[in-house]
Amino acid sequence: MLFDTHVHLNADQFADDLEETIARAHEADVKYMTVVGFDRKTIPLAIQIAEDYDHIYAAVGWHPVDAIDMTEEDLQWIEELSSHPKVVAIGEMGLDYHWDKSPADVQKEVFRKQIQLAKKLKMPIIIHNREATDDIVEILKEENAAEVGGIMHCYSGPVETAKECIDMNFMISLGGPVTFKNAKLPKEVAEAVDLEHLLVETDCPFLAPHPNRGKRNEPAYVKLVAEQVAELKGLTYEEVSKRTTENALKFFRIKS
Ligand SMILES: [Zn+2]
Ligand SMILES: [Zn+2]
Repeated sequence: MLFDTHVHLNADQFADDLEETIARAHEADVKYMTVVGFDRKTIPLAIQIAEDYDHIYAAVGWHPVDAIDMTEEDLQWIEELSSHPKVVAIGEMGLDYHWDKSPADVQKEVFRKQIQLAKKLKMPIIIHNREATDDIVEILKEENAAEVGGIMHCYSGPVETAKECIDMNFMISLGGPVTFKNAKLPKEVAEAVDLEHLLVETDCPFLAPHPNRGKRNEPAYVKLVAEQVAELKGLTYEEVSKRTTENALKFFRIKS
């Protein structure tokens, strides 16, 4: 059985067929999921879905692309929601230098505030990183994020940095890109990082794995990610699905 550790079933793309999407996930061996909320609209939806379905959990945080919109009230709101019994992590948070809606200094400030909040709450964090690996690692170190640990979601950086993150109590979560023919780094990471530090995810509706690349992604496809990881590590799918699910349950402190 599988745990898709990063889904956006709270996205508009699933508004019309959420029920069927979750049923397809179950048919594809996916038992657990974490729905990630990242702004005023998607956070309540993440919690709603977690309340409506068994084995679906929620994470609450503020996305770096929209960092410029986050107010002190939003941060307080995230803090209040963190005590909900199905909220298992703070995030996604981080840095995204691909889009320029929020200046880097604003993103860094909002990132640091959320790490500090997670430390106060003693909850793990989920990191979104796009073209900002060095700054993210620096901030995780400066803020001593190792105290709570976290997930490098949809990790696509080098092996070296993955190891640095593991040393700070972070899990490495692999998504659709590990299945792309031209994606060298995620494949290297899948090979080099020990299974005990790995998780799998879809980040659906984005980044659909091969051979569904370009289509709407959905949790059922996390099986393709796990199969690819198994192939790269020379292990069976059963071993990879079992171990990554155990890792995720332990990480999110879920009693199965
Ligand atoms: Zn993300
Ligand atoms: Zn996400």
